[in-house]
Amino acid sequence: MTKKVIIATRNQGKAKEFQNMFAPHGYEVQTLLDMPQIDDVEETGTTFEENAILKAETVAKELGVLVIADDSGLAIDALEGRPGVYSARYAGEEKNDEANMDKVLAELKDVPGGERNARFHCVLAIAGPHMETRTVNGTCEGQILQERRGSNGFGYDPIFFIPSLGRSMAELTQEEKSRISHRGNALEKLRPMIKDFD
Ligand code: IMP
Repeated sequence: MTKKVIIATRNQGKAKEFQNMFAPHGYEVQTLLDMPQIDDVEETGTTFEENAILKAETVAKELGVLVIADDSGLAIDALEGRPGVYSARYAGEEKNDEANMDKVLAELKDVPGGERNARFHCVLAIAGPHMETRTVNGTCEGQILQERRGSNGFGYDPIFFIPSLGRSMAELTQEEKSRISHRGNALEKLRPMIKDFD
């Protein structure tokens, strides 16, 4: 029997990554894209952790099963940590990846190469009936490029450069990204908390 895990997201990019990360362990991933009856959870928190907990607990309560939620984003040193928890809607409520990247590139127009450090953050929360909600986090260090490179991934991947690999996040395969990404790191820490997760 296929084991099932529910991820509280409607982000296509994240859904695809979680499907790839869980598939080798024999899990089928379901997301809110498969559950139109569940309302979007409003992200009213001011930290990744608050928002991840909010999403996991709200959906776990509605479905009565174990749910994992991801809250993630990009923190740029030269922008004092922005876009941070507002990463998805940095250029407006319509959550447009291209517009978000354009905004970041414009804001960093005059920032020299050595001062473009940034990191992705991911907090995963796991919530369910009869358990205390728990969280884990992961980060991934890099630099913001002057222009887009690559076409894989989602969000800010084309402008996020990983010095150790000499490539942008959007130039990595899904497997390569999962090995080094904030989400991949966080998921490794979550493994022991999921029953039967080998
Ligand atoms: P959330 O759905 O509120 O957690 O928004 C996360 C946002 O952060 C995404 O919409 C992206 O803009 C950005 N983000 C998070 N993880 C990644 C990633 O792995 N690559 C690129 N952008 C990401």
